[in-house]
Amino acid sequence: MADTSAAATPIIETADLVKHFGGKRQLLKRSPLVQAVNGISIKVVEGETLAIVGESGCGKSTLGRLMIRLMEPTAGDVIYRGRNLGSLAPDELRRLRSELQIIFQDPFASLNPRMSVCDIVGEPIWLKGGMTKAERREKVLDIFETVGLRPDMADRYPHEFSGGQRQRIGVARALAAEPQLILGDEPVSALDVSIQAQIVNLLEELKERLKLTLVIVAHDLAVIRHMSDRVAVMYLGEVVELARTDDLYDAPLHPYTQALFAAIPQPSATLKHSIQPLEGDVPSPTKPPSGCKFHTRCPHARPRCSQEHPDLETVEGGRQVACHFWREIQAAGSDPRPIAAPSARLEKRIALYTARQAGRADLIANP
Ligand code: SF4
Repeated sequence: MADTSAAATPIIETADLVKHFGGKRQLLKRSPLVQAVNGISIKVVEGETLAIVGESGCGKSTLGRLMIRLMEPTAGDVIYRGRNLGSLAPDELRRLRSELQIIFQDPFASLNPRMSVCDIVGEPIWLKGGMTKAERREKVLDIFETVGLRPDMADRYPHEFSGGQRQRIGVARALAAEPQLILGDEPVSALDVSIQAQIVNLLEELKERLKLTLVIVAHDLAVIRHMSDRVAVMYLGEVVELARTDDLYDAPLHPYTQALFAAIPQPSATLKHSIQPLEGDVPSPTKPPSGCKFHTRCPHARPRCSQEHPDLETVEGGRQVACHFWREIQAAGSDPRPIAAPSARLEKRIALYTARQAGRADLIANP
């Protein structure tokens, strides 16, 4: 596991990153201003897997895309290996961007249907230059082997592949650029659960073998628990809790994190969560609540919460939490732990796939 302490060297860090959409003057009025990301400072340590989680519309995908400079921020900085991406010359930025790759959620929509997969995967190599067509094909076939695709598939087109194979092509395309950091934007959520396990295992294996850093944007808490070293929990454009994965799953401190875990369906009707799942919708990011943005849904909200914004405070063990009253909530004795590990079916599939890879017939018989 990567060293994620405060002293560890970050590969990428953000400083007061802000992204707003809209707010532009139209014919008779202004379009609404959507505050997607609001002042996020976060660092990703070399070799770690950082997961970003939260409900739909919380800004997690936007934060990931800002990190790899797929979007320009409204304000704030992204520092990659000590260099501010916002102040680089276009040529330099293009070169560095090849080290920051993305795997998209929908493997079919992200692949050009008119190109063979050999050309799709070979495109980043072609863009870098310096290789003949034959050398490029040779390299593509090597990458195919790395991601578990057969060489005879190279001249096929995206529609000839299954969902899992398409996502392997997406991974291959990201690897072709020889990246240092890969953003997985919901990389398995569009796939069948058995295929999810294969892609999760593939990403973990590649991360170890190629010494990659991963940022995974996801909402499936089972996938996140399995893959990540640390988890950042987002609510309405802000990070409300950041912790090592084990610490977060053992004892989430923020009432929102606790409620996210409470929303996980339990495998048995006799098992009950001790925390009430969240009720109501996420407030509109065009009109976020004052003070703590979670106060309109928080079961522990008090008058101070609607008036004063809680800062992200560093607490024991280096974890961070943004809540005025997290200590009192902990001391009041509510047990915030999820009662059962989420999505036991996926965990079982992952174990089965790993056993198959390792040729463990005993485990395959009794996964
Ligand atoms: Fe709840 Fe108040 Fe803490 Fe926000 S600051 S999470 S509203 S208790």
